[in-house]
Amino acid sequence: MQTLRASKCGLSTAQLPAYILDVIDALTKAGYEAYIVGGGVRDLMLGQNPKDFDAVTNATPAQVKEVFGRRCRIIGRRFELAHVYSGRELVEVATFRAPPKKEVTSSAGMILRDNNWGTIEQDFVRRDFSINTLYYQPRKGIVLDFCNAVDDVYSKTLRLLGDPQTRFEEDPVRMLRALRFSAKLNFNIDQRILDIFTPELTTLLRDVSPHRLYDESQKLFTCGHLNRVLPMLNEFNIWKQLFAEVPPNITSFIERAARNTDQRISIGKTINPAFFYAVLLWETFLERCEYYLSRGIVPAEARAQAGLDVLKKQGTRTIIPRFAETFIREVWEMQTRLLNPKPQQIQALSAHARFRAGFDFLLLREKSGDAGTQGMGAWWDAYQVMSNDERERAISQYNRQRARSRRKASQDEPNLKQTHQQVEIEPLVNEPEHKSRRVRKAKYEAEERAVIASVNNPDGIGADHPILKRKRVKRDLSQVTFGPTQ
Ligand code: ATP
Ligand code: MG
Repeated sequence: MQTLRASKCGLSTAQLPAYILDVIDALTKAGYEAYIVGGGVRDLMLGQNPKDFDAVTNATPAQVKEVFGRRCRIIGRRFELAHVYSGRELVEVATFRAPPKKEVTSSAGMILRDNNWGTIEQDFVRRDFSINTLYYQPRKGIVLDFCNAVDDVYSKTLRLLGDPQTRFEEDPVRMLRALRFSAKLNFNIDQRILDIFTPELTTLLRDVSPHRLYDESQKLFTCGHLNRVLPMLNEFNIWKQLFAEVPPNITSFIERAARNTDQRISIGKTINPAFFYAVLLWETFLERCEYYLSRGIVPAEARAQAGLDVLKKQGTRTIIPRFAETFIREVWEMQTRLLNPKPQQIQALSAHARFRAGFDFLLLREKSGDAGTQGMGAWWDAYQVMSNDERERAISQYNRQRARSRRKASQDEPNLKQTHQQVEIEPLVNEPEHKSRRVRKAKYEAEERAVIASVNNPDGIGADHPILKRKRVKRDLSQVTFGPTQ
């Protein structure tokens, strides 16, 4: 172990926000050791802006709670941590960890519980990459380096502590972290890692909880170098583990969206990681829509069911939270609305909560060469910067064009209406009310099973598929006022 002067590593307290110093000082005052560790130290040394600062201490989570009282919450089961609120910021305070006990690892070597407190030396050993193991005590102005990590930082090398195979088996998420850090920091991955980073090893990711994988996928999407990460996900076979239903080719739409995400991050704009999920799953969604349409399901119903199916299937890999699912489905639904808006709805559409995301999505599609947008991306783009008079003119021109193309379509295919067969589905409204909750629950579960069965068997909708039990509600859609998509 070497103790380095912080100033020699280019570190000074002036670079640190007050909230992290506050946490370090409070722990020190209470008689505990406290360091800043991980990405905060690494990024400062590289002259980058750290995403966050993590603290580590010899105080147990319960003792951290005693120090910070109501400002502290203990979280996590597999990996217990204290979350300390300092002002408006949140600092993760971890306790030094000893190696996990044998009985809490799975047969594949995965660590199931990691709450065995230890010394700083033991804590160092169980961290992942050498560059993440620098312990910085800002008040003492020192950095503890247990493995010449400083050299790896300066030579831009991503090196795992210990045997790479074992470290990936212990926690397969480290494979994703390796790609993320390599892309974000533009570091070379150590040859010892590359040697064992086989497609077979990536199948271990199937044992990781889909909740954790969703979190990690978000970190990948927001690392600021998504465009660099995506080909790596493909190259290392991780794409297949994360997005089973998405063909592993980076379409120009996906590439453009990734570049756009990176640009937004670089200029400090917020991004919603669910947006990128909407992009990734878009083609799969369209295929699923086609599947229902080809079986005579009405378009709105087909889109709704396709959205549910695609997200449900993706949830077997990365569980997308409900609010993000709703966002994704609304962005997709917006595509239909923005493509063919009723003239009287244009104004309301442009004020809709999901307009911005839906429009960005449409424009990205258009700019990446998707002819299906029929130039409406550019139309909405122009519409937003028009004066009220110009908008009125644009809408009436749009209206005339719309009428013309409708006339043309009906001349070309005069019998379309008569020949277009649609499956009659029972009306939802006439469904008998079930009195007991138990019956309702059983029915709901049966529907769920039928949906999952049909998702797993894309060749056929079984007779008991809920979509076939519904009947189209006959509504005059021109009378429906525009509201939030559900
Ligand atoms: P960033 O916050 O910029 O994404 P980071 O290195 O700080 O990068 P965190 O997820 O915040 O990453 O974790 C903080 C530190 O905890 C890491 O630097 C590393 O030392 C340790 N760590 C995190 N996840 C793991 C893991 N899966 N295995 C081993 N150590 C880990
Ligand atoms: Mg961090």
